[in-house]
Amino acid sequence: MSKPKVAFFDFAGCEGDQLQIANLEERILDIASHVEIVSFREVKTGHSDDYEIAFVEGSITRYEDEERIKEIRSRAKILIALGACATIGGINCLKNFLNEQEYKNMVYGPWARYYSTYAARPVSAVVPVDGEIHGCPIDKEEFVEVVKSLLLGKKYTPPDYPVCVECKKAGNICQFERGRLCLGIITRAGCGGVCVSRGSVCWGCRGPAPSANLDAAREVMDEHGFSWVEVEDRLRLYLGHFLKFN
Ligand code: SF4
Ligand code: SF4
Repeated sequence: MSKPKVAFFDFAGCEGDQLQIANLEERILDIASHVEIVSFREVKTGHSDDYEIAFVEGSITRYEDEERIKEIRSRAKILIALGACATIGGINCLKNFLNEQEYKNMVYGPWARYYSTYAARPVSAVVPVDGEIHGCPIDKEEFVEVVKSLLLGKKYTPPDYPVCVECKKAGNICQFERGRLCLGIITRAGCGGVCVSRGSVCWGCRGPAPSANLDAAREVMDEHGFSWVEVEDRLRLYLGHFLKFN
C-alpha cells in the first residue's frame, strides 16, 4: 500500500512550528516510515506538488498569499493549520491595529512602497481547513497525535475547555492571586498550562477556548482590578484577529 504523501508549507511566521517537528529527531524517522514527506524545507531538499496532506504554518498577509494557499488547498485532500499564526492569525495581527503605511514604514523604512501587504489573518479566513494544531509554538507531542489520527482515518479534536483546567491539575497557584493578568481563563487547553507552571502567565497562544465563560472571565478580571485597556492590550498579542473582526 502506498504511503500518504505529506508536504509542509509556510506563510508569514517564524517557522518555529516546523522546527518543533524537526526537533522530534529520531521520531521523525518513525513518522517518515508511515508517510512520504515530499516537501519540508527545514529538513530536506526537494519539493513535489503531488501530496495528500498539507501542513501549513504562518498567517496570510498578502494578496499573493491567497493565490498560493488556494493552490495548496486545491491539491491537498487534507489541510492542517499549524501553530498560532496559521490557526488564529497570531502575533502578525498586531499590525492590524496600525494603519498600513505606519507599519510598512516601521518595518521596511524607505523601501516600504515596494511591499504590498494587508491585514494578517488565519488560514481559515481564506480557505477551509480540516484541522488545527494550536500553540506558539505547537506541542510536538500533539503533532504526533494528529499524525496518528490522520493515519487511522480519525479526526483529532483538541480540548475545548480553558487552560485553567490543566493549570489547576498541575497544582499551580492562580496568577490572579498574585495580581497578574492571565489569559488561561479564556484560552484553549492542550499545553498543560506550561507557561504558568514555569512562572509566567498564559498569553493566549492556543486561541479562544470554545467553552470558556467570557462573562465569568470578565468578572474575574474586573474583581482583580484589570481595566479593559489592559485586557485588550494583552489580547492583542495573539488574539488580535478576533478582537478586530468579531
Ligand atoms: S487564570 Fe491562569 S493562573 Fe489562574 S488557573 Fe487559569 S491558567 Fe492558571
Ligand atoms: S499557557 Fe497559554 S501561552 Fe502558554 S503555551 Fe499554554 S496556551 Fe500558550
